[in-house]
Amino acid sequence: MSTRLSGRAAAPGADVAPAFVLAPQPVLTKLPEVASGAPEEEATRLLGALQRAEAELRELAERVAESAGEEEGEIFEAHAEFAADPELARLTEEAVRAGTSAERAVVGAFETFRELLVASASEYLAARAADLDDVRDRVVKILLGMSTGGDRPEQRSVVVAHELTPSETASIPVELIAAIVTETGSPTSHAAILARALGVPAVVACDGVLAATRVSVDIAVDGRAGEVTVDPSPDERAAIVRRHEQEERRRQDLGALRDEPGRTADGHPVELAANIGSIDHIPAAVEAGGQGSGLVRTEFLFIGRVTAPTVEEQTKVYAEILRGFPGHRVVFRTMDVGADKPLPFVERDPEENPALGLRGIRLSLRRPDLFRDQLRALVRARGDVDGEDAGRLAIMFPLVATAGELEAARRVLRSVAEEEGVGLEGVEVGVMIEVPSGALGAARLARSADFFSIGTNDLIQYLFAVDRLNGAVADIGDVLEPDVLELIRSVVEAGHANDAWVGVCGEAAGDPTVAGALVGLGVDELSMTKVAIPEVKDALRRLTRDECREAVQAAIAGAADAVGSRALLEERLGTSLG
Ligand code: PEP
Ligand code: MG
Repeated sequence: MSTRLSGRAAAPGADVAPAFVLAPQPVLTKLPEVASGAPEEEATRLLGALQRAEAELRELAERVAESAGEEEGEIFEAHAEFAADPELARLTEEAVRAGTSAERAVVGAFETFRELLVASASEYLAARAADLDDVRDRVVKILLGMSTGGDRPEQRSVVVAHELTPSETASIPVELIAAIVTETGSPTSHAAILARALGVPAVVACDGVLAATRVSVDIAVDGRAGEVTVDPSPDERAAIVRRHEQEERRRQDLGALRDEPGRTADGHPVELAANIGSIDHIPAAVEAGGQGSGLVRTEFLFIGRVTAPTVEEQTKVYAEILRGFPGHRVVFRTMDVGADKPLPFVERDPEENPALGLRGIRLSLRRPDLFRDQLRALVRARGDVDGEDAGRLAIMFPLVATAGELEAARRVLRSVAEEEGVGLEGVEVGVMIEVPSGALGAARLARSADFFSIGTNDLIQYLFAVDRLNGAVADIGDVLEPDVLELIRSVVEAGHANDAWVGVCGEAAGDPTVAGALVGLGVDELSMTKVAIPEVKDALRRLTRDECREAVQAAIAGAADAVGSRALLEERLGTSLG
């Protein structure tokens, strides 16, 4: 008898193979109470283990970068940074010198970091807590003399686990993984991100899968639908094999679209660009078919820095990004520091409500030193790539709430360009529409903007009064709420009436159903996470602009809420994933 279970879809694809249950190696039950040697020796042993863990993780980062991509390799670079954190060394060494065993000192120190992450209640940050556990277990295993290599199946298998750490995922050769199913975890966990990068189907939060799984029983996994069948019947097996073939064909079809431009079935162009936050993201963005970048999150380029990057350093990075997208537009968002994106080199006073405080353009205007340096580096980068086959510079200001802020920002840009002795012809200057007052004031803003890019992540946060970092309210607020669609339409109209093009660069742009609706509202460009580009490109090429227009019109006129609006759009646009 087969057992059907469902979980959360974490990586597309479908496959059937024998189960390989990855048993957790319970390191936490093996911690010695007392130190094995004198505090001095224990401290040496501890620091040695931290260094070895760091070295192993850097090696793993290189291996993963080769097999899955640079961006995925960075997951382990970040893990290596955890292991190399001086605060971790300080905390653990202090405990060891007070007589605690090295193993317990490590567990205690990681717990302190972990509490900070879990307390944030954000799904994304909570997922980072699992990453911390992964590094902690590696250090403890090294101290206990256990292998850090992990188990691996002998044949190609469906890997089943309570929770899969990124290093467990990366230590099994990809050719041995048919699919991944975990009992806990979230689609934003690094193990899920790795599965997507490796092209392995995955279902997470699949309650009951361990209890239902016996050694070597076959498991069928549909990663797009989030369905898992333990011990499938011949019919169920045949169905999953058909799904696998369909998915493979789909992968090939999508790959074939790589160099095709984004457009609707009737030939109306819709630029499909990639959001990037690192130079390392460029090759994968190009590979996914990204037509330039509609959002370079410049604050992420310097996230590891303790001191502000110099103009020269910034110029070099910006020029390299422009070179990465020959012939396309590259929209550099000036640093959006503050609230959920603090930067160590920008000191700020504590705030009661950081999301409503000094962030984005507000902070830049109060810190002209930083702002001018960045703008100077951007115009110099443009000069540096002049005559090369590079991307076109566009500059965008974040969190603009009033036309006055836009004017002030433009004045700074003009003054920097004058000092540099360069003109700004050909440099598009735009604003992010991510504050309700910006959306309502779009007509006024459009008079001095070349483009708008709607940041739905923050726009939803501020429209619905839901903290985007608070998981407890994550289900409130949706771009498909009919009134939000109506608001977006008014922003597009205001932009177009003033010859400004309008894009969307929030996460929602990467959802094929939302993308169809946005095109129906007249949006000209969609910028999204690179993995979403092929599906969105494919969906739009199957739809005419009128179909999109009529569908979104029907949603605005007839749907009661976002759920109704999604159902209606999916039905009309044929974008349901099921
Ligand atoms: C947004 O707010 O939608 C956006 C794209 O910017 P970020 O997510 O970086 O705040
Ligand atoms: Mg934003």
